[in-house]
Amino acid sequence: MSDVKLLSTPVPPGGTIGILGGGQLGRMLAMAAARLGLKTHIYSDEKDAPAFQVCDAHTVAPYEDEAALAKFASVCNTITYEFENVPAKAASVLATIKPTNPNAKALAVAQDRFDEKSFVTGLGLKTAPFAAVNSVDEAAAAFARIGGPSVLKTRRFGYDGKGQAKVKSAEECKAAFASFNSVPSILEGFVSFDFEASVVAVRGADGQFAAYDPAENIHENHILARSVVPARLTAKQVADAKAIAKKIADALNYVGVLGVELFVQKDGTLLVNEIAPRVHNSGHWTIEACITSQFENHIRAVAGWPLGSTERHSDAVMENLIGEEAADWKALAAKGGGLHLYGKSEIRAGRKMGHITHLKPRSS
Ligand code: AMP
Repeated sequence: MSDVKLLSTPVPPGGTIGILGGGQLGRMLAMAAARLGLKTHIYSDEKDAPAFQVCDAHTVAPYEDEAALAKFASVCNTITYEFENVPAKAASVLATIKPTNPNAKALAVAQDRFDEKSFVTGLGLKTAPFAAVNSVDEAAAAFARIGGPSVLKTRRFGYDGKGQAKVKSAEECKAAFASFNSVPSILEGFVSFDFEASVVAVRGADGQFAAYDPAENIHENHILARSVVPARLTAKQVADAKAIAKKIADALNYVGVLGVELFVQKDGTLLVNEIAPRVHNSGHWTIEACITSQFENHIRAVAGWPLGSTERHSDAVMENLIGEEAADWKALAAKGGGLHLYGKSEIRAGRKMGHITHLKPRSS
C-alpha cells in the first residue's frame, strides 16, 4: 500500500492522537496522552463510550461510515486503535489520510487465528499444533492430524473463550464446526500447560524496542481474573519471552504496544497462543509498577516520541473487577492499592468494570 501515510515528524504536545474504540483501553490511553500534553479524539460506535469522559473530542459513528472516518482523520495528527477487530476497510481509509498504527499487516495477522499461527510458526516460533477447518470433511481430517484432545476455534471474532469448543473425537469436532455455522475455523491441539503468561512490549517508529517483564495470568470463566508479576519464569524464560515479542514486532514493522499471550509448558517451553495488536489487559499493572506505563509507551510510539523506560520498580498483582465485583466501590476504595473504575454506566455479568493493582517491594 504505497499511499499509506507515514509519520515523518513526532506529534508535538498540543497535537491530537485519534483513537478508534472508546472502551477502558481507549480511556487509559487518553489519560496517558493527557499527561504528555497530547490531546485525544475518540471514535466509537457507542454513544456512551467510557473513553468519552476523559478525551478532548469524540465522534459517534459506525466503523463503516467512511465520511465520518475521513472527517475524524482530518482533525488528528496520527491515529491508533484500542481493539483489534477494526474493519480492514476502516483501517485502510484512515491510513491513506493520516499515519495509522499498528499497521494493516499487524491487524490482519491478529484478526485471523489461522493466519496468526501460520505467521508465528513462519518466524520459527512455537505454537500448539494447528490445522485449518473450512468444511465438515476438514473437521474430521484435522482431528485425525492433531490426533488427540483439541480446541476448535472460529478463525475470526473470538474473544474471552467465545467461539471455542473443546473436542475429543472427530465426531465432536464436526458437531462443533456445525455449531459455529460452519464459519472458517482452526483446530488446535489442547495444550496441558503449566500456566499462562504474557509479555507486553513496545516498538517505536524508529524501530526502538522495549519489553515489560512477563506477567502470569489467571483466568476465571475464560476472562482474565488476575495478572501477577514477576511470573514464575526463569531468567532465561523471561529473556526468551521478550525475544519472542521482539521477533514478532520487528517482522511486522510494528509501531505501538503489543501483547503476546503464551502457554508455559511443564518442560518450560513457551508456546505463542495469541498476539494482541494493542495495549493489553495483562499490562495494566505497568501503570503503578513501572516508570512508564504500557499506555504512555503506546502513545509515545504512535506519536513518534522516544520510548519511556519499561523498568519495573515493584512486584504487582492486578485484579480485574468483573461485573458485581465493582459494585461496592467504597470497600474497594478502602482496600488500598491502585483502584481504576472505568466509568461504565451499567454493571453487567462478565463486563470489565475496573481493576485494582497491589504493589510489593521488588523481589526479583
Ligand atoms: P484464546 O481466545 O485463544 O486466548 O483462548 C482463551 C483461553 O482458552 C486461553 O487463555 C486458554 O486458557 C484456553 N485455550 C485456548 N487455546 C488453548 C489450547 N490450544 N490448549 C489449551 N487451552 C487453550
